[in-house]
Amino acid sequence: MAKPINSCTDMSKIQACDVTECAYNIERNCHAIAITVGNTEAARCDTFYRHKKGGVKGLTGGVGACKMSDCKFNTDLECYADAIKVATNGGEAVCKTFARR
Ligand code: SF4
Repeated sequence: MAKPINSCTDMSKIQACDVTECAYNIERNCHAIAITVGNTEAARCDTFYRHKKGGVKGLTGGVGACKMSDCKFNTDLECYADAIKVATNGGEAVCKTFARR
């Protein structure tokens, strides 16, 4: 297993996100405090929201939870990747760091 996670500050960070139409995206970075990734079929960012701007300027978003239990970076529905990237795929925001075990 990678680094231990003992507090919210240890969350995997979102290194980049090119989903510029998301409320939390400022200059291709995520400014949500934490996102949730995954649903039944794909590593979608569940926090993606088309809306006027939101988030916390100056903050780099982290992965608060991830439902992709079949990803090699996932343990107990938490992400242990050092950092992730999120990108547009078919109109959705998707974790591009996902790697099936
Ligand atoms: S890298 Fe894997 S565990 Fe981490 S957020 Fe993406 S899909 Fe979830």
